[in-house]
Amino acid sequence: MDKARIKERAEEVNSRSLDFQLSHAVAACNVMIIEDFKVRSQSEREDLKQKILVASQRKDESEVQRLREHIGGLKKPSRIYVEYCNIPEDSGRVVKTEDNHLVISLPLALAEKSRDEAIVYNEKGVQELRRRTAHELGHVILHFDKLMNQTGLRGSLDLGPDEDIEANIFTETLLELRRNRNATLASQGFYSKGIL
Ligand SMILES: [Zn+2]
Repeated sequence: MDKARIKERAEEVNSRSLDFQLSHAVAACNVMIIEDFKVRSQSEREDLKQKILVASQRKDESEVQRLREHIGGLKKPSRIYVEYCNIPEDSGRVVKTEDNHLVISLPLALAEKSRDEAIVYNEKGVQELRRRTAHELGHVILHFDKLMNQTGLRGSLDLGPDEDIEANIFTETLLELRRNRNATLASQGFYSKGIL
């Protein structure tokens, strides 16, 4: 994929994710994949309606019935969920569920490292968690079709090395945009001190 296009998509996520808490970026990506779905399914729907019209003019009732069922069965938009589970600390993945949603799995051990003993944010842990989430969101935004066509439980782990390079470009772009924007917000007095 064109590097400029990857950066453009990361910019779109950034512009929708407020100050980019992890949940904001996930919500922004959720909105984007639902909007993409509407655009795609709209042309498919219109195409099917046209075919129904032609079939009903031919008085081909069984074809009309078949096409109506096809419209009814069009997939619903996917949503993104995040879970923390017992997977190796250096891993992470995004997997399609049977009902076409996407689950980002992140290591529980890493989530635990994002807080210290007093349950205060541990900066390094949070940054690593954010980086890992951004990488999987990169796969969602850049490799959506490939993820949706995958079977099995490895999800993004079965994408190729090129896809990982692309997800890393997406991650770096998104995190840099976030740093820049939050620095601007801090200079305007929105934050009292450094932002994680
Ligand atoms: Zn990856």
